[in-house]
Amino acid sequence: MAIQQTANVAALTAPTAPPAQPAELDASKVSIILANELKPVPPPTELKFGQAMTDHMMVVSYDPVSGWSTPEIKPHGPISLDPASSCFQYATNVFEGMKAYIGPDGEPRLFRPDKNMDRMTMSAARVALPSFDTNELLKLIRRLVAIEKRWIPTQKGHSLYIRPTIIGTRPSLGVAASDSALLYVICSPTGPYFPTGTKAISLLAVGETIRAWPGGTGGYKLALNYAPTFKPQQYATKLGYDQCLWLLGDKVTEAGAMNFFVVVRRDDGDLDVYTPPLDGTILPGVTRDSVLALASAHPSHTLLPDIPPTVRLHTSERELTMSELSAWAADGRLLEAFCVGTAVVVAAVARIGHGGKDLVLPTHDGALGLVGRALYERITDIQEGKFAWADWSVVCV
Ligand SMILES: *Cc1c(COP(=O)(O)O)cnc(C)c1O
Repeated sequence: MAIQQTANVAALTAPTAPPAQPAELDASKVSIILANELKPVPPPTELKFGQAMTDHMMVVSYDPVSGWSTPEIKPHGPISLDPASSCFQYATNVFEGMKAYIGPDGEPRLFRPDKNMDRMTMSAARVALPSFDTNELLKLIRRLVAIEKRWIPTQKGHSLYIRPTIIGTRPSLGVAASDSALLYVICSPTGPYFPTGTKAISLLAVGETIRAWPGGTGGYKLALNYAPTFKPQQYATKLGYDQCLWLLGDKVTEAGAMNFFVVVRRDDGDLDVYTPPLDGTILPGVTRDSVLALASAHPSHTLLPDIPPTVRLHTSERELTMSELSAWAADGRLLEAFCVGTAVVVAAVARIGHGGKDLVLPTHDGALGLVGRALYERITDIQEGKFAWADWSVVCV
């Protein structure tokens, strides 16, 4: 009662303030609480993807009235949410995957982080989560990465995996957009996807269970796209394949959570580099975009490692079907297939199970072929700050 009265008196005597606008995300307001005790960093050889978490995380929340809260960098730990929260009930969950690397100057750097930021706001908008200033989020990520620098492994192919996430926190069972949200960033040190280096993987073409369809959400990094892939993935594993190759009818879309490329020999000795177009069923990968840009730049703007300047790479975003892959394989023109994504960078495909048979690709001694290897080397060199290309490598301070 007393509190109520005080509030009323204050309201009567206060000068009339203009209605408050919801606050924008503002990295300059960040509050930093460092962990009292730091965890031991696991030796690089013991890193399993996504298992070890660093000491700190970044957390900021959105409320429809007050807007974005004061961002906090604080010890990594559990968060507490109402069980009715939108994210648990209606899958209002968006994530990103990006990496930080240590450059030759000892400074941490990010690879094309603006692409991840833009994609994150696109995904958030698709499930009606609030938007935010991507530059401010990037500043917060750079700050967090700088704080977690000791966690970034320096060995080739090692990095700090960064998982920005935004989830709907509206605590109501009403089937509607979440007007409140939690945005957080966690980090995990990671080694190469395959401990043995770049071992070729096998794919099982899956057409009965569909990952994405025209007009659906496959082009957005929404958590709801992934849970339905776990059962087919278990089936592929049981049959001895590493990942699913997702089909739409006869059309090839993606493999696992990676974009898919093939290299086809032309009659004149040049090479065609094909990947399916961004028709809404394909996740617009940052690695995919980088592969297309670098392959197109050879040989006029750069020479990719070990690819002769006399060989041109003709990139094209075009539909690919299993029938075409089989026909090219039968003609001996299908030289390489590879999968690309932040976690793996570039992984060779050794065989594709389809209709009870295996389409077998040239072996390249179980590793990447000419084009896949050149792209892997060039992209990791750019990521690790050893080769400058456009403004793709961003130092964290
Ligand atoms: C994240 C992801 C990719 C790869 O995108 P990158 O930005 O290169 O990491 C490809 N396909 C799917 C389905 C993905 O979720």
